[in-house]
Amino acid sequence: MENEIEYVRNNGVVEGPKKVLIICPSTGFGLSSRITSAFGSNAATIGVYFEIPAAPGKPGSSGWYNTAAFEKEATKAGLYAKSINGDAFSDEIKKKTIDLIKADLGQVDMVIYSVASPRRTHPKTGVTYNSVLKPIGKPFSNKTVNFHTGVVSDITIEPCTQEDIDNTVAVMGGEDWEMWIDALRAENLLAPGVITVAYSYIGPEVTEAVYRKGTIGMAKNHLEATTKVITEKLKDIEGRAYISVNKALVTQSSSAIPVIPLYISLLYKVMKEEGVHEGCIEQIDRLFRDRLFVGGEIPTDEEGRIRMDDWELRDDIQERVARLWAEVTTETLPEKGDLEGYRKEFFNLFGFDVPGIDYNADVEEVVEVPGLVE
Ligand code: NAD
Repeated sequence: MENEIEYVRNNGVVEGPKKVLIICPSTGFGLSSRITSAFGSNAATIGVYFEIPAAPGKPGSSGWYNTAAFEKEATKAGLYAKSINGDAFSDEIKKKTIDLIKADLGQVDMVIYSVASPRRTHPKTGVTYNSVLKPIGKPFSNKTVNFHTGVVSDITIEPCTQEDIDNTVAVMGGEDWEMWIDALRAENLLAPGVITVAYSYIGPEVTEAVYRKGTIGMAKNHLEATTKVITEKLKDIEGRAYISVNKALVTQSSSAIPVIPLYISLLYKVMKEEGVHEGCIEQIDRLFRDRLFVGGEIPTDEEGRIRMDDWELRDDIQERVARLWAEVTTETLPEKGDLEGYRKEFFNLFGFDVPGIDYNADVEEVVEVPGLVE
């Protein structure tokens, strides 16, 4: 966390947002969005996440400790930072967030939507949907790696049903994002010129069948299409919704997708060698500095998406990754790919394998989140 804060601070001030609501700010891209808003733009931040609190004898989830550390540092820097722990999909948590914004900030000028969840209970019907990661239409066979053991093997994933697609769209599509914006707008909590950003992924051909053209890809299509709906709804206050297509990175969510960890191991190797590797903080810092707050038109692709995957999808990078993909085996992965880098980042997500930490020392597992609103 300190390194990430340092990174943003060292890059200087971004003329960015001043009051930011981040939905899912406890890990991955959402955490980096909160750090960049606060330490790049000196913004007040409210975070809504779903984490396990620390209790005596029962450590909390890593996002709990991340949030505690962030809020401690933000408060030290004189920045407003409060959070709400609960199901972001629910009406109850939306209402709690609305009350907090009303009481403390009045309005927000940016809303970041960084949800990655395997399930969602619909707030109106009470139906719970589970998302799946499956190809559509036919089975998909390719290589994958168990990054714990380093074994590269072939995997076949059977195609989904229409219900799987609908369920995945219900969880990871844009309906909840739109519900958040509707709820905030109805209470006049969005400042004139507000921007809202959600994160998407496209990726290479090798992962296409299970990602972009699979069930999750259908959800991302829906999320991306929701930008137009939201922008239309925010017209009178000149608000806009954006998608940022980010690069593939090791997070709790991406590590659960078949095939992706092997692709990331090879991608990391190539991008590091080419000097263009980025983690979540570098991606979001660049999103703020070089795209969102450049002081003019926000650069997008033809579909209106901001492309932070520009370096990942560079032709020379993808050609090298495709060559490595064809050759890689269990025996050659440690040398052809960056399996060590993958593992390290994975363990780092949970606070392990961090240099300078004495893992034999006694720890106090109960840590308070300073700005938590009960
Ligand atoms: P992550 O697993 O690191 O973070 C998920 C966050 O969601 C956590 O903060 C968690 O607390 C929160 N969350 C989950 N369910 C919740 C709920 N019901 N209520 C409140 N909070 C909840 O995920 P990530 O990889 O940073 O993904 C964030 C977004 O970025 C997703 O839309 C993902 O598709 C996108 N993305 C990820 C990658 C990648 O390679 N990791 C690449 C491009 C885009």
